[in-house]
Amino acid sequence: MENFLEICQVEKVYAGGVEALNQISLSVRKGEFLTLLGPSGCGKSTLLRVIAGLEKVTSGTIWLGGIEITQLPPNLRDTNMMFQDYALFPHKSILDNISFGLKVKGVSKNERYSAAKKMISFIQLNESADKYPNQLSGGQKQRVALARSLIVQPKILLLDEPLGALDADLRTTMQIELKKIQKEIGITFIYVTHDQEEALTMSDRIVVMNKGTIEQIGTPEEIYE
Ligand code: ADP
Repeated sequence: MENFLEICQVEKVYAGGVEALNQISLSVRKGEFLTLLGPSGCGKSTLLRVIAGLEKVTSGTIWLGGIEITQLPPNLRDTNMMFQDYALFPHKSILDNISFGLKVKGVSKNERYSAAKKMISFIQLNESADKYPNQLSGGQKQRVALARSLIVQPKILLLDEPLGALDADLRTTMQIELKKIQKEIGITFIYVTHDQEEALTMSDRIVVMNKGTIEQIGTPEEIYE
């Protein structure tokens, strides 16, 4: 697999002097499910936000598909971020929620609805296209949020503890579903969790972080041992 996201000696010091990332270097392969694992405060979210362009690096460079993106604003990077709270629009239908990213890009109504219907079918919510978010279960909302992030075809989807708000049973179901969808569409996922079991179940590779540094990178088998 080709390395297509390259993070080179990235350092992030927040105003106030907290060093959240200390010389992080990491290569991410195309199509892989990579998990950032570590205790609260170790820098996982900061690394994700730096990749998305939501935070500026203090030093170091980031490359995507051979192009340096270190200084690019979030909307000019081919990355998309999915959050735990879904951030769905309550007054828009599921169809409009999912097609929203294409609307922003100026795609015509016919085209974006056609793309959104394909996504809705993919996440098996055909019956719910005209419903509103408050008419869906937690797991269904999660799938809508995922579809909405994927419809713009990002090169990388960044997921910050997306299953954190779900109860244990649903969480296990969604772990399997997320992994299956990722395999089918082949988009690179970078996934943040502090849950070791979740990381071991879902990932192609796991990056173990501690205090702003990378302690270990390996497959779930290698990390488990
Ligand atoms: P994690 O996602 O692993 O819980 P974070 O990346 O959120 O860790 O935080 C890493 C460190 O940076 C922590 O010490 C945290 O308090 C600090 N931090 C995070 N965001 C900010 C911010 N906006 N301003 C100052 N310090 C921050």
